[in-house]
Amino acid sequence: MHSKIYKSTVISVFTIAASVGVALGVEAAIGDPLTRSGFVVAILIPLLIGFPVLMIIEGQNDRLRDAFFELDQLHSIAREQIKLDSMTGLFNHQHFMKAMNEGAISNDKGSLIVLDVDHFKNINDSWGHQKGDEALLSIVRAIRENVREQDIVGRIGGEEFAVFFPGANKEEAEIAAKRIREKVEAIHFEPKRGIIARLTVSIGGAFHHEVENMTVAMRLADLRMYAAKESGRNKVVFSGQRAALSDQ
Ligand code: GH3
Ligand code: MG
Ligand code: MG
Repeated sequence: MHSKIYKSTVISVFTIAASVGVALGVEAAIGDPLTRSGFVVAILIPLLIGFPVLMIIEGQNDRLRDAFFELDQLHSIAREQIKLDSMTGLFNHQHFMKAMNEGAISNDKGSLIVLDVDHFKNINDSWGHQKGDEALLSIVRAIRENVREQDIVGRIGGEEFAVFFPGANKEEAEIAAKRIREKVEAIHFEPKRGIIARLTVSIGGAFHHEVENMTVAMRLADLRMYAAKESGRNKVVFSGQRAALSDQ
């Protein structure tokens, strides 16, 4: 407020000086002496019109600045949210890949798992989509509760998830994968009173240094996840499928 008055006053003073200057210039040019009332008008007009107009303009400027600041904040919130899957709050596929690549570069090594919920369509078909969502959220909770703070978790498809364990070797990631598999199997999911529905996941895993880059590691983990499905589901597979990589 103070700076607004200060700025408006300074500009008004300059405007008054200019106005008086012009009046004196006109006086000299036409040789008609400037009357006292003419002199007062030359001061009052810029003061009475200029000052309030400047105050209004400054007020609009302030509002514009506030709106700009708010927009900037909303923009950064939107940028953050766009990375996240709205239902689970996990990284979406695109951001998961980005975070994983960055994590792999800065940690030099790391391991990855891909999880797919088994026969999930049956859950939806039997109990409805809403119960299906509840089942997915309980699986996400089981994953989150069994990974470390620094591990990167993403939702890479409807009922498919992935975890990157920065710095972890294959054995460490396999232990984590087995623990997650067990925890999901132990979820008490009761879609209808008195009816317990079994939730399980098939997991494929790969170690960063097994292949040339994380994109290939992801494909390998995916192939192993399908191998876990084929071998009966509710399994963890961390080996094989390398030959299938070159077939793709
Ligand atoms: P598989 O063991 O071979 O993976 O069988 P599946 O039934 O899990 O696999 P399929 O790909 O046939 O079906 C996956 C289903 O997951 C179909 C889709 O409607 C459901 N789904 C995907 N995203 C969501 C979601 O956000 N909420 C719910 N409720 N269902 C979802
Ligand atoms: Mg699937
Ligand atoms: Mg599935």
